[in-house]
Amino acid sequence: MNEPKCAAVLLGPPGSGKTTLARTLAGRNGISVIETGNLLEQEIRHGTPLGLQIKPYKIEGALVPSELVRQVITGELERVQAELVLFDGFPRSVAQIEIFLQLLKEQHLSLCAVIVLSIDSQTVIRRLSGRRMCPNCGAIYNVYMSPPKQDGICDRCGGRLIQREDDRAEVVRERLKGYERETLPVVEFFRRKFGRLTWEETATQPPDQLLNHVWRRLGEVCCGMPRP
Ligand code: AMP
Repeated sequence: MNEPKCAAVLLGPPGSGKTTLARTLAGRNGISVIETGNLLEQEIRHGTPLGLQIKPYKIEGALVPSELVRQVITGELERVQAELVLFDGFPRSVAQIEIFLQLLKEQHLSLCAVIVLSIDSQTVIRRLSGRRMCPNCGAIYNVYMSPPKQDGICDRCGGRLIQREDDRAEVVRERLKGYERETLPVVEFFRRKFGRLTWEETATQPPDQLLNHVWRRLGEVCCGMPRP
């Protein structure tokens, strides 16, 4: 079994395409992804004791308390088996930086990259209000940009698609404000302390181009990854 060796962080406003990029990278190269937002959502859907505590925050688009996030991520880290663990949307507040650095130490991971996706608010609102997801298999669609073949039905498993409660326009605006207030300081921290590892990508560039940029740079900086 391969022990994880490297960690990368993927940050960006809601709707910047973090999860889509992370999943494409994972599918293509066998990277393990910690999908923070979706892991929290799963706890809610499965009605676990953690999920019951998480639900009120997530519905409002507020950040879930860091201790709950730590428990969910720790559980997931125990399952991952890859050379590179990509953290999608964590750490997301200054309070979570300490938890993140502690987790890296406990899991013997070294930070090798911090990718920041940049995008304007108008595009975010359009993207998120059209987003639909399959509660069965987690597939993501967009009614404007990448609709399912049959309206409201998942192409992959036939599940009935839903709109996440926190993708409603008024909640999206709250989430954007939260990003500026809570997460931009995290981006600043990484720029200051890990400047050589931190870089920005425009989220609206063609998906293949974005994927290739990120993949090439990860290959240059991460241990155990195939060289580009
Ligand atoms: P996302 O799918 O990344 O947009 O996250 C959706 C929601 O999950 C956020 O609005 C928060 O309520 C919650 N969430 C995701 N990541 C975190 C995190 N690192 N800390 C706290 N809450 C989070």
